Order: sequence, then structure tokens, then C-alpha cells
Amino acid sequence: MSLAELQDDLGQRGEKPFRGKQIYQWMHVKLARDFGEMTNLSKVLRENCESWYTYTSLKTLRVQESRIDGTKKFLFELSDGNVVESVWMKYRHGNSVCISSQVGCRMGCRFCASTLDGWERNLLPSEMLDQIYAITRHTGERVSNVVVMGTGEPLDNYDNLLRFIRLLTDGNGLHISQRNVTVSTCGIVPMMRRLAEEHLQITLALSLHAPTDEKRRELMPIAKRYSIAELMEACKYYFEQTGRRITFEYSLVGGVNDTQEDAEQLTALAKPLNCHINLIPVNPIRERDYVQSDAGKVRAFQNKLEKNKINGTIRREMGRDIDGACGQLRRRHIGSLPDSEGVGRA
Ligand code: SAH
Repeated sequence: MSLAELQDDLGQRGEKPFRGKQIYQWMHVKLARDFGEMTNLSKVLRENCESWYTYTSLKTLRVQESRIDGTKKFLFELSDGNVVESVWMKYRHGNSVCISSQVGCRMGCRFCASTLDGWERNLLPSEMLDQIYAITRHTGERVSNVVVMGTGEPLDNYDNLLRFIRLLTDGNGLHISQRNVTVSTCGIVPMMRRLAEEHLQITLALSLHAPTDEKRRELMPIAKRYSIAELMEACKYYFEQTGRRITFEYSLVGGVNDTQEDAEQLTALAKPLNCHINLIPVNPIRERDYVQSDAGKVRAFQNKLEKNKINGTIRREMGRDIDGACGQLRRRHIGSLPDSEGVGRA
């Protein structure tokens, strides 16, 4: 609930409106785990709240910490027993959390581990928020950036995503700046357009991964629904509506999308747009035989973009030793993969 909704609901139950503000602050600023922690409320009110409302509090099942870069991967259990994963990354400019938006995914991208077991259900706004809150409680450090790039397709869970963003960036709550929130999509065109019309200041990242429809269809089933031309139109619209530069994600897969010709074709797509390209060496998953482009190819690809005056950075890999990539830890947990070494319990 938003603050206004909570105040209204409490009012209808005969409580004073300022109680709404108190409870909201306990939830979203002090990051209380339950009503029991809200010590400036009467015992009666706390008990009433417990009977009136469902309080989402994720159970931390596992925390894995990278020995390489301090990245932490969290496995959380939801109240129905489903599990989701989130990642905490420390950068010089602040702490970033990557959250999941669904249990599983139905988009079927060929290189992604999150989709291998299919889609289970959407996450509620509170379940997205509590990934960030639980991590903040665990690390004791403020989160400054949130990326919705974990398991799931956020634009396939649109209403919950929007409510989540509004709560996350609300001045009465954790108050993370909209500019520090990134939503990544595989490219559901009508939803990208709808998001543009919300006029939020968040960053939209498009998982492009291929410069032609033909190649993209091999990697991403969604490419059979929407063409690259339609995607580029939607990106242009997003920029026009919000003034926010689009990010293209481009995972380099050895022998698939990493040639100089691919870089030229990508240039042609990127040129008319105000965008930035993130080059990501694909993270190989054992169920598929995709391999990373070798370092020379990656550099040559980036050089080509640079020469063509396109902004492109190679994304630094983090948490490689802890199943950092989408969906790997959850799959291990639900029994599809054997346990790895170095797994710590929460
Ligand atoms: N469904 C959304 C967000 C989740 S995936 C989307 O498709 O954008 C976040 C990013 O990681 C996407 O760009 C996705 O294509 C990419 N990704 C997934 N698995 C990967 C892997 N094994 N290697 C590299 N990138 C991967």
C-alpha cells in the first residue's frame, strides 16, 4: 500500500491517520521485519495490524559472497515456499542491488538460466521491495542503485513493477532516486510504450543481443513477436517521452554475434538513438553450448563501436565464482544442479 492508501485504510478502521505515517516509516525507512518491532504503537494496535494485514518478510536461505570482488548473492524464500535470488554489488559510486521480478520466466531466451524451468508466478510489489530491504538489513549499508535484471521479465509483471517503483522511490520511504533505478526488458514493445507514458525518470535497458531479426530470433523467442524496427521505434518514443537515454544490453556470444559485421549493423541501429551500449561477455550456462567471445574479439567489437562514435562499455563481470548470472543459484537450490563449493548459509 502507498502511504495514502494505508492512512485511508486505517482511518476506515477507526485509527488516527498519523498512525499510517508511523507504520509506513517502520516498514520503509526503519525496515522493520514485522509489526512486533513497531514499538511506538500500542500492543493492541500491533495485534490488530497483524490480523488486518499480511506483512511480507522474505526468509534469507543463503548468502554467497564472492572471494573475488565481495559481490553477494542472496537466495530468499517467499511465504509460499518459492525461492528467488538477488545480487548485491559494491561499486565506487555506491551499492547496487539486482532484484528478481518473477519466480521463473516465460521468455525463453536461449542463453539464460532463469527461464529453463519456466514461469511460476509474478512477484508482488512487496516481494520486490523486501529483496532490497532484507539486503540492506544484512549488509547494514544503504542501497543507492536498483536494477531489475534478475530472474523474470519485469514488463510481463507491469502493474506490480510500477507499484514497486513508486514505493521504492517514494520520499516517505527509502527514497531511492528514480534516476538510480534501471528496468531491463527483453523487448515487449507495447509495454515499453506504456512505460514511456508514465514519464518516470528511470533508465530503460533493452536486451538487444543481436543486430538483425534473423540472429535475434535464434537467441530470443520474443524476437518472433516484435521486430528490431518496432523495438527501435519504441526506444525512440521512450526517449522522447522521458528524456532518458536508453541502454542496450548486448551479450557477446562466441561465433554468434561478435563479428565486425555485427558491430557495423549494431552501429546502424544505435546511431539515430541517444543510447549507450553495455557489452557483456555471455556467461556460459551448462545447459547450453554457448561460449564467450574471446577477449580479442570483444575488444575489436568495442573498438569498432568506438571508431563509429557509439558509446559502448564492456561490463565488468562480478560474482563469477558464486553463480552471479541470472537464475543460476535458484536452479541449484531447486535441485536442477548439483551443489557448488563455497556456499555459505545465512
Ligand atoms: N527479462 C529481462 C531482465 C532479466 S535478464 C531482460 O531480458 O532484459 C538481465 C540481462 O541479462 C538481460 O540482458 C539478459 O539477456 C542477460 N542475460 C541472461 N542470461 C545471461 C547470460 N547467461 N550471459 C549474459 N547475459 C545474460
